[in-house]
Amino acid sequence: MLVKRPAVTVVTSAVVLAVLLSALLSALAAPTDAGRASGSEAAGAAPAAASAHRAPAHRARPSAHRTTGRTAPAGRPRVVAGPAIRPVGSCRAGRVALTFDDGPDPRLTPRLARLLQRLRVPATFFMVGERVDEAPAAARAVVRRGFTIGDHTYHHPVLDRLSGARVRTEIWSTAAAFRRAGLDAGVVDLVRPPYGAADARTRSVIAGMGRPSVLWNVDSRDWAGLSPAAIVRTVVREVRANGRRDSIVLHHDGVTNSPATLAAVPREVHRLRRLGFCFVALDAQGRPARR
Ligand SMILES: [Zn+2]
Repeated sequence: MLVKRPAVTVVTSAVVLAVLLSALLSALAAPTDAGRASGSEAAGAAPAAASAHRAPAHRARPSAHRTTGRTAPAGRPRVVAGPAIRPVGSCRAGRVALTFDDGPDPRLTPRLARLLQRLRVPATFFMVGERVDEAPAAARAVVRRGFTIGDHTYHHPVLDRLSGARVRTEIWSTAAAFRRAGLDAGVVDLVRPPYGAADARTRSVIAGMGRPSVLWNVDSRDWAGLSPAAIVRTVVREVRANGRRDSIVLHHDGVTNSPATLAAVPREVHRLRRLGFCFVALDAQGRPARR
């Protein structure tokens, strides 16, 4: 018995180890998306035309990098293949892509990126070029945390009021700001027109640059000064209404009320996950990715 016992212990330990190892391997190999098999709705959300939303322009400040029509295009930023953050959770109720506009804010944006990384929620940050020039480290922090950055123009103008040449300059200048900030792999081709103001002409100018325009179909109204609780209620209500048509949610990390957004995001994420929604990045065309 005394001889056998250690042998039994060794065998038992080996079996336990093998079982644990096999469980671990299958957990790693298994898709994290329990809803993948049934997640077969048609193409991703075609976000409704922008609502009447007119977010207040971020406060005007002198730009360190005045851009004019003279600025030469200097190539487009590279499109990354997919989100660095692998989403978790079920998609049975629908997919949700979070977007954050008007940053980077030197303090709030890095905190938001840290929070989203902890929550394992992919997100796209549509940054304003002149703000990237003012806070390049905040923009780099977003990419370092695994998020993607899109173009929200250099000066945040209403593009519909600009000539085609000036629309193009707004977008090229932002790409140049991304390059000055040393951003590369995290930058995607997506363009979000400020205020959602993009008529057919503006959209065709942007499309002519090979850049998809991305609006949204859920407006958190954080720009309107809502409390965190009201932001959560607004987003959850509208995402549920969209359901399996998928949602692209508009938030702001560069407006006065953005601390409320920061407070709302974790509650929003937890409530939507409990309801069966999953969080995904935007694909190259600006639709919630099928992952
Ligand atoms: Zn904006």
